Amino acid sequence: MKIHEYQGRDLLASFGVPVPAAAVIDNLEAAATTYKQVTSEAGTNLAVVKAQVHAGGRGKAGFVKLVRSPQEAEDAARFMLSNKMVSAQTGPEGLEVTKLLIAAGVDIAHEYYLAITTDRATRRHTLIASAEGGVEIEKVAHENPDAIIKAPLHPLLGLQPYQAREVAFRLGFRGKQISQAVNIMLNLSKLFLAKDCSIAEINPLIVTPPSSSGTGVPPVTPTSTSPHPDGQVLAIDAKFNFDDNALFRHKDIQALFDPTEENPAELRAQKFGLSYIALDGNIGCLVNGAGLAMATMDTIKLHGGEPANFLDVGGSATEEAVTEAFKIILADHAVKGIMVNIFGGIMQCDIIAAGIINAARGYENADGSKGFKVPLVVRLEGTNVDAGRELLKNAASDLPTLQAATDLGDAAEKVVAAVG
Ligand code: GDP
Ligand code: MG
Repeated sequence: MKIHEYQGRDLLASFGVPVPAAAVIDNLEAAATTYKQVTSEAGTNLAVVKAQVHAGGRGKAGFVKLVRSPQEAEDAARFMLSNKMVSAQTGPEGLEVTKLLIAAGVDIAHEYYLAITTDRATRRHTLIASAEGGVEIEKVAHENPDAIIKAPLHPLLGLQPYQAREVAFRLGFRGKQISQAVNIMLNLSKLFLAKDCSIAEINPLIVTPPSSSGTGVPPVTPTSTSPHPDGQVLAIDAKFNFDDNALFRHKDIQALFDPTEENPAELRAQKFGLSYIALDGNIGCLVNGAGLAMATMDTIKLHGGEPANFLDVGGSATEEAVTEAFKIILADHAVKGIMVNIFGGIMQCDIIAAGIINAARGYENADGSKGFKVPLVVRLEGTNVDAGRELLKNAASDLPTLQAATDLGDAAEKVVAAVG
């Protein structure tokens, strides 16, 4: 589960990681007053207006704007609330922005990257840090991997102080910043473990220029060799992701869930115990079992088709589950045909076939009429498969778009042909 930056900042602050003062707004009218409130508390005229969406790359997309007056804050807010944000992480359709963070702005001498996540190669939680943080971090990781420092966390104890000190030195922190950076790293590790995070990322972690407390001192050009021993270390962005399997023990994190950031069809599927992931193609898939669903999508692609979704109805494939799955799949208007691929192991194929037929007959179209209109190709295999196929054949009279397939390849061929 992902959360917003403003929620992540609160979490960081509660674990002792310093973040500049900020407030969230959801309407344009609040922009100017919130700017005044946040900047006067911090004793600066610099603020930053930031779109609150569950995607990164906001800076590059123009959805993080530095402002120096109530008017500029309002202009930035107007732009963000009335345009969709398109970044490398959103896909071309972009994301609507309904909430903005207005944070006290800080002058930046240098931007660092700091995160904890699971390193799949070593299978350990790992601290990742770089002195080349900021909006180009993906490029740095790609082109200059040596600039990325990694330190594995102890599985039970988390990051050890000696590791944090070593990373702080290697990042080039000097003077008082070393203990500030060490505390931030140790606190981030505590937070990561306490809340069962899968990602805890601060990008950028910054150092302010010497003797600057956000009083409009012009930023120093950052170089990794220019230490600023008097600068303050602060987190000015926060990105968190949590392990869904551990959410049951974190009611406080569950409460941060924002359903408006989720795909509505995926949310609805979740409610009915279906695993559904929307994709870009036009062939809906209804399958029992995640492995079989993957194989089904592969076979559709092999025959030149494009799957519209991944959908695992689970082991049972009951009439209720199939009925709900049909609704969810067909709510995607790109879907031109459906392929059902079910293995009847514990459940018998004749019972599954009857369920599919009933669900298709009962399907209510947008115009109120009943019965399936899009091509429906069904492949069953397993216990009582002959009886199941017989039922499908006999149902063709009132379900003219229904076709029974003999095997997986046959089903994919038929559905690809049917959608043209
Ligand atoms: P992201 O692009 O979605 O990761 O958004 P960030 O919050 O990381 O902001 C992007 C960039 O905007 C940062 O890397 C900074 O360079 C800049 N930025 C954000 N907040 C401030 C601020 O308070 N002061 C200054 N000078 N720059 C900021
Ligand atoms: Mg960032």
